[in-house]
Amino acid sequence: MERVCLDCGARLLGRSDKKFCSDQCRNNFNNRLNRDQNNYVRNVHAQLRRNRRVLADLYDDGHRRLHRDALIALGYNFTFFTHLVETLEGVRWSYCFEYGFREEGPEYIELHKSDSYLEPASGGEQAEEPEL
Ligand SMILES: [Zn+2]
Repeated sequence: MERVCLDCGARLLGRSDKKFCSDQCRNNFNNRLNRDQNNYVRNVHAQLRRNRRVLADLYDDGHRRLHRDALIALGYNFTFFTHLVETLEGVRWSYCFEYGFREEGPEYIELHKSDSYLEPASGGEQAEEPEL
């Protein structure tokens, strides 16, 4: 089976574990890989910041209960959040940094702002219930 350089596609001769025809091609390939991974992180982070901004603006304007569509219209993406906090009662709060919400039925959400940093998880300890 013919083996080719992962970067330029040139035929590879010699050792069967060789992946690149030259150091230059190895560097090109690895740089591209890093760039793609950095882009991924950058894009996710941008969406998280956007989500936080949407929640922060609404919360700071005094909103506490909203229709999901209102968030979506502002660019909120429900796929991205930083962490979940579940209370003993089974209420699940989804956070983007210090701003979070819980679902209230299928259409509405209730906003919350956490005033403490997230404590490291420890077994059996009760999740702190947000004050509303
Ligand atoms: Zn090559």
